[in-house]
Amino acid sequence: MANPLNLPMVRRSLRNLVSRPATRRYPTEIRPRFAGARGTLEFDVETCNYCMLCARRCPAAAITVNREARTWAIEQLTCIACGVCVDVCAKKSLTMSVTSRAVHTHAEVGPQGQRPGHEEWHSAAPAVAAATAATTKAAEGAAG
Ligand code: SF4
Ligand code: SF4
Repeated sequence: MANPLNLPMVRRSLRNLVSRPATRRYPTEIRPRFAGARGTLEFDVETCNYCMLCARRCPAAAITVNREARTWAIEQLTCIACGVCVDVCAKKSLTMSVTSRAVHTHAEVGPQGQRPGHEEWHSAAPAVAAATAATTKAAEGAAG
């Protein structure tokens, strides 16, 4: 009968039991960012006026803005972190952040597997949306 200790899988299993983990223990151990890393895009719903400039200039088409519905959305996995939208936003509503994102719990991910970090939708609170709409309308009236 073959010696089980000579079987590659048995040897590997025993070795794994006593060796260090091959990966970091994320999220308790988070790898520091590389120097020069741009990070991920952060959006401030309070200052955005839904001008759509960021969506038009995004080379990856990662941003969706609906001016009428007052919603702003980004697909984080499509974003290439080029920073163009940050540069063109006159309201300074967009910034690049190197702070690590929170890990989402099973309850947050939802039944369809939709992750908040994958596609994020933002919409202003009704009062803020109404005020922003009035300001935009007044500005468009003054310009026209
Ligand atoms: S984030 Fe900036 S550029 Fe994009 S819609 Fe809002 S105000 Fe306009
Ligand atoms: S950082 Fe670049 S790719 Fe990402 S949303 Fe902004 S413009 Fe698009």
